[in-house]
Amino acid sequence: MMKHLDYRHQEKWALANNTLIPQSPIDVQTDQLLAEVDTSLQINLPSDQEVIVKDTPIGIQIYADGDLQWRGHEYMLNRFHFHDGAEHLVNGKRHAAEIHFAFESVDINQLVLAVFADVDEDCTDDSILTLLDAPHKLVDFDINKLLPKNQTFWTYKGSMTTPPLNQTITWLILEEPIKISPAEKDLLQDKLRSNYRNIQETKDRDVYRIED
Ligand SMILES: [Zn+2]
Repeated sequence: MMKHLDYRHQEKWALANNTLIPQSPIDVQTDQLLAEVDTSLQINLPSDQEVIVKDTPIGIQIYADGDLQWRGHEYMLNRFHFHDGAEHLVNGKRHAAEIHFAFESVDINQLVLAVFADVDEDCTDDSILTLLDAPHKLVDFDINKLLPKNQTFWTYKGSMTTPPLNQTITWLILEEPIKISPAEKDLLQDKLRSNYRNIQETKDRDVYRIED
């Protein structure tokens, strides 16, 4: 059994307290979002691909192909993973889960695309189950199932939410949550057990809302 990051003792994580990089996650206040016009975001995740599931010390990671263009920069998808209980709060409220797609540009800028998930009792989809129930394998998976239709997003500068915490991350958080089934939420809970980092201070950071 692999030893995983201990979310009950986050204060012991390396560099959590002495980095100058503004930290993540934050509690997004929707009445304080600054509106911006920008139509440059393009997310391309191939629907038909085999993804690689790996258990790692920071939890189950899924390695997949994809790219994202934004504001003249091109980012390549490295991996994605799930948080049981969203990391970012919205007006103090926590969505059931949050998915992080970790991208990197050729000049080593890090960008994380975050998608919230809520439980829908009528949802019977179980595609997430195939990703999480047996680590270390190849799975045919359509990643686009994890994206909402509307691509309105919020953006701010923060950090990773697992060590190392001293690296700047451009966060893009899609506003519309996707739906997951009760069975999928149960599995996330069972495998990941509230693996969200505590909320960090927003301080004087601006958070922008960019409409689809
Ligand atoms: Zn994450």
